[in-house]
Amino acid sequence: MENKIEQLSKILKESNNIVFFGGAGVSTESNIPDFRSSSGLFNQKLNRNFTPEQLVSHTFFVKYPEDFYKFYKDKLLYPQAKPNHAHLALAKLEEIGKLKAVITQNIDGLHQLAGSKNVLELHGSVHRNYCEKCHKFFDLEAMLSLEGTIPYCDKCNSIVKPNVVLYEEGLDDDVVSKAVSAIRNADLLIIGGTSLVVYPAASFVNYFRGKNVVVINKDNISYKTDNTLVINEPIGEVLYKSVLSNE
Ligand code: ZN
Repeated sequence: MENKIEQLSKILKESNNIVFFGGAGVSTESNIPDFRSSSGLFNQKLNRNFTPEQLVSHTFFVKYPEDFYKFYKDKLLYPQAKPNHAHLALAKLEEIGKLKAVITQNIDGLHQLAGSKNVLELHGSVHRNYCEKCHKFFDLEAMLSLEGTIPYCDKCNSIVKPNVVLYEEGLDDDVVSKAVSAIRNADLLIIGGTSLVVYPAASFVNYFRGKNVVVINKDNISYKTDNTLVINEPIGEVLYKSVLSNE
């Protein structure tokens, strides 16, 4: 591993337009489990057999809002979670002008909490919630303070929906075009904590035309170019050693 950390440090040194593309593995080190792993127990409780994808689908939200919110509040919200070394290292790289964008499939807001400014949230954020009718905004705390399992707007009594992209819903056009443009202009693409299996998000890395790709993921992923450094180690530790430890 040390040899790979050295290689990564060298690549980071010579790169000036870094883009990070990340997924669930970035947050697991902040004790936020991948929601797919939480669905089994939930189904037992409901005595049903929904796939994780069904539980967070638009259809499920509309048809079974109560069960949707039970699952959502129990398994997708981690208001106490703190950024880990991966988040902090990426914020540092942005602060010193090397990193231009963090593109994330996570919805937990931990990159911003760590200090990152340009964060493109492909799947939205649990921190933004809107009334479906009058569009009143609720931050996470305000949404959670609404009484009952299903949050109803305190102004018009309609259902409040998280600004999270559910299955069957499209990604935000503006976020997508910014993400694609950032990747296209990058000289280094770091892919971290994702197995690149959730589409369309995973396909965006194909827009990369720069020099180096670094993959930091516990498991092997299929993405490979001629110039890919693959590090199958925990991302927090890798980024700590290559970015934060030599301060
Ligand atoms: Zn309302």
